[in-house]
Amino acid sequence: MKKCYKKKPQVALTIDVEQDAPPFLNTWQGVEKGLPLMLEVLAKHDVPATFFITGLAAERFPGLIAEISQRHEVSCHGYEHERFDMLAVEEQRKRIQKATEILQKITGTKPLGFRAPNFKLTVQTLAILEEIGYVYDASKASYKQAPRRSGSSLVEIPNTLPSSFLRLPIWLSRQVLSLCLCFLPLVVLDYHPWELVKMSNVRFDLRFATGDKALNRLDRTISYLRTRGTRFVTLKEVALYRATQG
Ligand SMILES: [Zn+2]
Repeated sequence: MKKCYKKKPQVALTIDVEQDAPPFLNTWQGVEKGLPLMLEVLAKHDVPATFFITGLAAERFPGLIAEISQRHEVSCHGYEHERFDMLAVEEQRKRIQKATEILQKITGTKPLGFRAPNFKLTVQTLAILEEIGYVYDASKASYKQAPRRSGSSLVEIPNTLPSSFLRLPIWLSRQVLSLCLCFLPLVVLDYHPWELVKMSNVRFDLRFATGDKALNRLDRTISYLRTRGTRFVTLKEVALYRATQG
């Protein structure tokens, strides 16, 4: 492959904190066992991340979420990992408001960003986010269809690669990641703490290479990004910058 000499690629690590492999399981092994491992890796490399946290996870693990907010960005991932595209508008509003208040109470700061569970939402969800004061939405993905809302002031920051992709063998995922670093102004990567726990009884794409393999690949991916001179950013930084650019 031809070498790419882009000087300083920009990468945002994002982590969705929720129950294990939703909606298939109701356990919290990812938060209990996977999340501390993930925080260790981030601390080892000294990189910031953006955590999209459900209101329910924050209610169950307030100490851990408060600790995360000291070093990283805390954003909203709905209340209980509900599908916003399947809820009435009033119900959507109630749940976003509830999750926002819980996160604000625990971290002392109002979250500025939102990512809809399963990347599923409606134009009304976007309107509610704007009305409540959110600055950006990260519910779109370059590999999924999403609703558009004209005239919205929300900054849209799409996800670049699905989390399961980052669990593929390094030789394979790195080829694609390398191309993304060359050609995209910002690469957004998505992880889940439950991927660091060996999963069983769930769909194949949710369980392959979970546990130690996933942890090792996360660690090596961050090391590789460092060797590429990557600048690690939070989505809040990106959104606030883009908002000032109009
Ligand atoms: Zn999620």
